[in-house]
Amino acid sequence: MNSYYSDDTVLFLDGEFVNAREARTDLFGQTLHYGYGVFEGIRAYRTVHGTKIFQAQAHFERLAESCRLMGIPLRYSPAELTQFSYQVLKRNNLSNAYLRPLVFCSPNMSLTTPREVSVMIAAWDWGKYFASSSLRVCISSYERPNPKSTHVEAKTCGHYVNSILATSEAKAKGFDEALMLDMNGFIAEGPGANFFMEKDGVLVTPKSGNILPGITRSVVIKICHELEIPVSESQIAPEDLESADAAFFCGTAAEITPIASIDGISFQKPWRKTVGRIVQEAYHCMVLDKNYSYVIV
Ligand code: PMP
Repeated sequence: MNSYYSDDTVLFLDGEFVNAREARTDLFGQTLHYGYGVFEGIRAYRTVHGTKIFQAQAHFERLAESCRLMGIPLRYSPAELTQFSYQVLKRNNLSNAYLRPLVFCSPNMSLTTPREVSVMIAAWDWGKYFASSSLRVCISSYERPNPKSTHVEAKTCGHYVNSILATSEAKAKGFDEALMLDMNGFIAEGPGANFFMEKDGVLVTPKSGNILPGITRSVVIKICHELEIPVSESQIAPEDLESADAAFFCGTAAEITPIASIDGISFQKPWRKTVGRIVQEAYHCMVLDKNYSYVIV
């Protein structure tokens, strides 16, 4: 028994809805051996207008783009994948849930792009839980992959070896999470979330190029524009963190999670007084399909 599925769980697999216990995969696929596959992480929320998959189109467009960059064929459109996802939620009676679409390759032990792939979409319960506790973060000894070695903007399975190493190292050292640098020594991102720092009411996030430019990150930037909070995408050196007032991680799973300290140095501004807090509140309204124009800046 695990928390991802039970005897009754149904998942989408190659055009069919199948029982999760009966679903099978081949042991000779490139995804299992080489990490050559792509996936998404998506959330659904019970909103005032019913169950809504947050940013479904954006996530499935990114899945399609990840496939294109990686040379992995995908036979379904974002609209079709969204429809299948709603079916998975409905058949499993889920509303507050995490959705995991995965495109994985058919048996092929050679190092060539595949002709055939499988698509699965699974979902599991993820209570409407907004992370509020602050994280104690450390700068990782692991860098994000060099964009000359892979397409970092694709959500590729194998990239998460780097994430697992970084989070495990951080936890082993007694921290909650890691913050990784890029190959030039600038701040890049967390193992599964993007990074923002706040200084004098301005939010700054690493520019794209050496990161997975997250969908939550784009939503945060959009919220900032709407609420007239100054925001910039630029290079952040580790020394810049010393004069920052606050910082947070953002991602589909993390939502907006405040960072308490980096390498033991605490941010001085109380979270409730930051613009990050305003963005966090607006984000929570947005995922729940509520108007957030009332949020006072
Ligand atoms: N960076 C990495 C490495 C991630 O795994 C994620 C989670 N998908 C993010 C950033 C945030 O992306 P998103 O907001 O699209 O979930």
